[in-house]
Amino acid sequence: MYQYKRSSELFDQAQKYIPGGVNSPVRAYKSVGGTPVFIKKAKGSILTDEDDNEYIDYISSWGPMILGHALPVVINAIKDKVENSTSFGAPTKLETQIAKLIVDMVPNIEMVRMVNSGTEACMSAIRVARGYTGRNKFIKFEGCYHGHSDSFLIKAGSGASTFGEPNSPGVTPGTANDTLTAKYNDIENVKQVIANNKGEIAAIIVEAVAGNMGCVLPKKGFLEDLRQICDKENILLIFDEVMSGFRLAKGGAQEYFGVKADIAIFGKVIGGGMPVGAYAGSKEIMSVVSPMGPVYQAGTLSGNPIAMIAGYTLLKELNNKPETYTELAAKCEYLHKGLDKEFAKSGFDYRINRCGSMISIFFTDVDVVDFETSSTANNELFPKFFHEMLKRGIYLPPSTFESYFLSNTLTYEMLDKTIQAAKESLEAMKA
Ligand SMILES: *Cc1c(COP(=O)(O)O)cnc(C)c1O
Repeated sequence: MYQYKRSSELFDQAQKYIPGGVNSPVRAYKSVGGTPVFIKKAKGSILTDEDDNEYIDYISSWGPMILGHALPVVINAIKDKVENSTSFGAPTKLETQIAKLIVDMVPNIEMVRMVNSGTEACMSAIRVARGYTGRNKFIKFEGCYHGHSDSFLIKAGSGASTFGEPNSPGVTPGTANDTLTAKYNDIENVKQVIANNKGEIAAIIVEAVAGNMGCVLPKKGFLEDLRQICDKENILLIFDEVMSGFRLAKGGAQEYFGVKADIAIFGKVIGGGMPVGAYAGSKEIMSVVSPMGPVYQAGTLSGNPIAMIAGYTLLKELNNKPETYTELAAKCEYLHKGLDKEFAKSGFDYRINRCGSMISIFFTDVDVVDFETSSTANNELFPKFFHEMLKRGIYLPPSTFESYFLSNTLTYEMLDKTIQAAKESLEAMKA
């Protein structure tokens, strides 16, 4: 039986000095209850916590560990670089190498700017879209997450209002006025919002596959329709590929769905586990970015050599081994089928959504296609399932609104163990 003694002590201490004991809210287990597990180390797909319990990892650091933890080529590259100092604040040749590699891997982009997080990349991409179009407003979708900068912490307004409302204290109503919200997978709703704000919208930002309301796939034609409307209304289409980039395919969602974005945003995988984000687009659009153009954006540690070597090495691995993506998709499908069988037998209402190596289970009896339907699964069943799985050595994301991210170091044996654990967990939940 798993014991969490040390984690529990560490969490108590952490709460004295860190708000909620964590540096990012989802880690605190608020939506599943209990004590968060403190991780000591990880290798491949196995996490080890401070009590020396081991888990099969389905978070993969929320994406970056697509080829497993402590990947030897990445670790060695970091070790090699770190001897030469950790930061210069001056250009390095490595920055051009990674930029070129990204441009080679991802369709429809010519230039890329590196930043330090997905949040920063999203925030900057919106500024660029505004600077480029000379318009102030943008549309985001309910349930999509684009980091924690003010303009994105906006929820749908009440009633017929298309104005958003702040989702957090500290975000001003003024900021909220420039963020319009629409329903994911609902093109008529998007058209309506555009019609109400004719000529004022700089951009539509979307997670091409949503991963922040659980894994939710775009309906057939949804992305194509967005592309078409954007072309017609001179609106920039921004794909937030912080999750999907280098994960669905080496060219991300643009390659996977064959739909072109004007700006693509990256994070997570792109840094190989180091704090990195990036935004990219055509030379024409990226030309507005400082110092080439007037839209200001900077970063003391942007393009940091240790972060760049980690990202560059991981991306090179992915670029050189395109079979990674078919292997991952096959593993995810295998897991899906196995889970599907056990859930069907269990009698619980459920839906499973899957895209590439992203997968989510929802405890609900409705198809999950947007935030509203995803929210129906935010019930008492998921926390129970989470803890039953954890006890059996399976580390799932601690919220029903998060996707699982598979790593290619997962073996079929581990997947079988996971399916068996799900079977036992579902039985325990009925007891
Ligand atoms: C994680 C995430 C972000 C924010 O990235 P951070 O590195 O956490 O700031 C933005 N967009 C999407 C789609 C994400 O999943």
